[in-house]
Amino acid sequence: FDKLDGVIWYNGEFVKWEDAQVHVLTHGLHYASSVFEGERAYGGEIFELTKHSQRLHDSAKMMGFEIPYSVQELDDACRETLKRQGLTNAYVRPIAWRGSEMMGVSAQHNSINTAIAVWDWPSYFDPEQKMKGIRLDIAEWKRPDPATIPCKAKAAGLYMICTLSKHAAEAKGYADALMFDYRGQIAEATGANVFFTQGNEIHTPTPDCFLDGITRQTVIGLAKKRQFKVIERAIMPDEMATFEECFITGSAAEVTPVSEIGPYNFQPGAICKQMVEDYTAAVTPK
Ligand code: PMP
Repeated sequence: FDKLDGVIWYNGEFVKWEDAQVHVLTHGLHYASSVFEGERAYGGEIFELTKHSQRLHDSAKMMGFEIPYSVQELDDACRETLKRQGLTNAYVRPIAWRGSEMMGVSAQHNSINTAIAVWDWPSYFDPEQKMKGIRLDIAEWKRPDPATIPCKAKAAGLYMICTLSKHAAEAKGYADALMFDYRGQIAEATGANVFFTQGNEIHTPTPDCFLDGITRQTVIGLAKKRQFKVIERAIMPDEMATFEECFITGSAAEVTPVSEIGPYNFQPGAICKQMVEDYTAAVTPK
């Protein structure tokens, strides 16, 4: 990260980066009553901004609280923060959480706090480097049953197992980890959705216990425009032996080809290249 200073939008006002603090008895910190977004700006425009602001609202509702700013107000605040940071290509992180007034599992009357931080975060690799693909470990932790957690919320608590899995993967020299779900089906990476190819077909797990990512939806649309057949279905791990290409998608990850998942190898090829190019074109302001 090159720039971790400037201002942060905090409950409707701009404060200096170092002054954007929370109290140690914040409910969000103790009990994970926190929801967030991850967005990218390209050439001064935040890609799919309203979808992200809407998802932040929806995530909060699933966590039983209401963000005291409308989707429109969040959109405006994100744009204004980007501008004040003087950045055009950047990462945008809105977050909302229950405050520190009551301490205990119950926090009915706690304030709802909202903040937006923007920092410089260039795309990981140049396109040529990207086509080499990244290596993924297979995570030991499973995405949980939807009956055990609000799995469609982009909520802090869902990331416990992502951080554990990512750390375990990094310790073994992998870039990230692929997670299976509670049924043993392929789910997603720790911060991105996953796609596989077989001939001219693109297969991706049905998002019934994890985020249906905004990038995932964009890429499915782009793939269909290219006449690829996109198949959303339950995918079992041993099927990875039958796939040719693999890539992951996310606002931060963008479209990133994958060369290896545990014992399975993939050859980033024509479809990965096409999707990387089409996604780059889609996010670039006209
Ligand atoms: N799954 C997880 C666990 C994520 O954190 C993300 C990133 N938000 C995604 C999928 C991809 O979502 P999006 O394309 O909306 O960024």
